[in-house]
Amino acid sequence: MYEKDTLCVHSTRCPKPACGSITTPIFQAATFVHEGVGVEPEYSYSRLQNPTRAALEARVAELENGVDAIAFSSGMAAETALMNIFEASGHIIAGDDLYGGSLRLFRHISALAGLRFDFTDTTDPENVRKKLQPDTKAVYLETPSNPTMQVSDIAAVAQIAHSAGALLIVDNTFLSPLFQHPLELGADIVVHSGTKYLGGHNDALAGFLVTKTPELAEKLRFYAKTVGACLAPFDCFLLERGIKTLAVRLEKQAASAESIAHWLRRRPEVRKVYYIGFPDHPGFEVTKRQCSGFGGMLSLEVDTPETARKILREVKLFQYAESLGGVDSLITYPMLQTHADVPEEERLKRGINDRFLRISVGIENTADLIEDLRLAIEK
Ligand SMILES: *Cc1c(COP(=O)(O)O)cnc(C)c1O
Repeated sequence: MYEKDTLCVHSTRCPKPACGSITTPIFQAATFVHEGVGVEPEYSYSRLQNPTRAALEARVAELENGVDAIAFSSGMAAETALMNIFEASGHIIAGDDLYGGSLRLFRHISALAGLRFDFTDTTDPENVRKKLQPDTKAVYLETPSNPTMQVSDIAAVAQIAHSAGALLIVDNTFLSPLFQHPLELGADIVVHSGTKYLGGHNDALAGFLVTKTPELAEKLRFYAKTVGACLAPFDCFLLERGIKTLAVRLEKQAASAESIAHWLRRRPEVRKVYYIGFPDHPGFEVTKRQCSGFGGMLSLEVDTPETARKILREVKLFQYAESLGGVDSLITYPMLQTHADVPEEERLKRGINDRFLRISVGIENTADLIEDLRLAIEK
């Protein structure tokens, strides 16, 4: 088996494109010809499947070591389709530091449809055990979490979920299949916002569900083709193109993030840096065990709200924008952006206050990025 950086470029599961093309062609077709009555063609209608999408899905499934991957028009579309497998009843235990959009989906849509949610601090797997109910159908984890970079032990939580007959679902957006393989650690389904590291260029939205078993894949494909939030052929092409450089991008982003995290930690204006690569991070032992890299994300708490706003105003290379994982370095103010919908008390309890900033490190020169932050902080 090839290493992941090779698989980013050469997928062994992707069919060889026609005419010897190095890239998968964009099959910009909504429908396909049937050879004859009763002859079921491989492709019939692009909501069900399209050759460009099939190639991308094979590539992502291989990177995550899944049996199948399904591509959606966004990460949230993937999560919305996923919630259908619970058939509007039952109990789900979710981490309490999730991506804001996931919280919004669970609380304001899935809960109204009949699912019951319990949110808990999954960094201690025993908290998950305590929340189990007879009809718990799934545990939903994000690790590291967004934006406070909490680490949960995937293998330990998988064991607890499975002991109760529940599925373990892991959002692997932050580390990507380059640095973390939830399915190998016991997860049943992996969620990705392909908009982030997989696409990597802030130019396309995408989402994926990767499954460990053919049964789960079949179930999810039924919802995917019915709901119709499929990834368009051109966006599939952009995702394939992005994935080819995932390893070089993320290795550079991770190296820069490490330098920036250590630099920030030494600044008097910075009260706290949230970064999973610090040996004194509470989840460091778990991280060493379950991840092969620390990723390109970090958050920080500065001394005053004025410093936070000054940084957002004065940075020149870092751009004040939502999203993460792309080649451009971005800085966000979670309180006003990704976590604006989270109730204030809950937000503050988790440390997401008016002095809290989140950074997605891009692929610019590391020293230039540090100088950009220095000039902004000292302004
Ligand atoms: C962005 C994000 C999502 C949602 O994905 P979209 O592609 O924006 O719909 C889900 N989970 C995490 C961790 C994310 O960062």
